Amino acid sequence: MDFRLNKEQKDIRRAAREFALGEFPDRAQEFDREETFDLDIWRKACDLGFIGVFIDEEYGGAGYGYFEHSLISEEFWTVDPGIGQSLTSASFGSEILLLYGTEEQKQLVLPQIVEGKAMIATTNGNLAKYVVLFALTNPEQPSRHDRHSFILVPTDSAGYESNKLRGKLGIRASDTAELSFSDLRVPLANLIGEEGEGFKELMAFFNRTRLHVCAQGVGVARAALEEGVKYAKERHQFGVPLASFQTIQFKLAEMATRVRAARNLYYEAAWLVDQGTIDHSLISMAKWYAKCADEALQIHGGYGYLDEYKVQRLYRDAKIVEIYEGAKEIEKAIIAKSLLGQ
Ligand SMILES: Cc1cc2nc3c(=O)[nH]c(=O)nc-3n(C[C@H](O)[C@H](O)[C@H](O)COP(=O)(O)OP(=O)(O)OC[C@H]3O[C@@H](n4cnc5c(N)ncnc54)[C@H](O)[C@@H]3O)c2cc1C
Repeated sequence: MDFRLNKEQKDIRRAAREFALGEFPDRAQEFDREETFDLDIWRKACDLGFIGVFIDEEYGGAGYGYFEHSLISEEFWTVDPGIGQSLTSASFGSEILLLYGTEEQKQLVLPQIVEGKAMIATTNGNLAKYVVLFALTNPEQPSRHDRHSFILVPTDSAGYESNKLRGKLGIRASDTAELSFSDLRVPLANLIGEEGEGFKELMAFFNRTRLHVCAQGVGVARAALEEGVKYAKERHQFGVPLASFQTIQFKLAEMATRVRAARNLYYEAAWLVDQGTIDHSLISMAKWYAKCADEALQIHGGYGYLDEYKVQRLYRDAKIVEIYEGAKEIEKAIIAKSLLGQ
């Protein structure tokens, strides 16, 4: 097995890093404080081809895999998780269309996602042109696995309402919405996949989308490690840098190990998915493992508690990786079930 990136993948990673360093740092604190975002950054990211790289070339995408999408997510999240999430989630939902959408649905939606003409959601529910709705369509079915369906909902449909949710702990640049659907009607042609098969389709969807959440976790952990190393060298106590204390060194060593291990987990998981092999357990391991922000803040002592230091934002941003697209308890339950053959 070879974990080295090929030249194209290295170029993607470098380009994503350069773009993020050029666009994010000056605005990150403002977006976090104001809970806002500048859509021009999204348009630029689309122009440069960073959004929806896993979308096939016939629908305007680059035709790369979920692996390359994850590489971009890691780089974006290392520079700023809030802006990173605003950008990479602009294509969140395309995965279900690629898996189960009709040709008409794919032709209609996917090129617009890549070109920066539309976002797809539920994150981004106030900004998106399309929402992928997981709906209870067959409540009479005895098995709860046969009761749901995916429906493509244009947000200009009568009866669609979105309400911006404010006061999030982290990733505050990212738009989060509460959605409501009042007597909203769409044509049958907007059914994605098979009626009643939504639950199984959702699991297949998560096996793709969780990969870039794994990469988000690695990105924010890497950023926390970078901040920890920087501060440990800068800050002097008792006449010596913090970095000279073994307790601090051990924290940094443990964080570096976690970042490396978590990255290897998601590299393997994403590589396997792109080869057509789904390893649920591995994807779940990769998703919960990367955690460094807590110790990075600890290295900063009292200063880490203030918003003047980036580590405070990272600490808040990192929490979401343990919650969305499967809380960490659910990931661990998946791993345990696989271990125990349940
Ligand atoms: C910023 C943000 C963005 C989001 N974006 C999206 C989005 O784009 N699309 C979308 O669909 N959703 C989105 N969500 C929703 C998110 O996916 C859910 O919040 C998450 O899956 C957890 O579900 P819940 O909030 O219902 O928690 P619950 O399911 O109520 O869980 C609460 C607690 O109970 C535990 N728990 C629940 N069930 C079990 C069980 N069976 N066994 C053991 N423990 C259990 C959980 O691990 C957790 O600790 C978003 C949420 C946030 C905060």
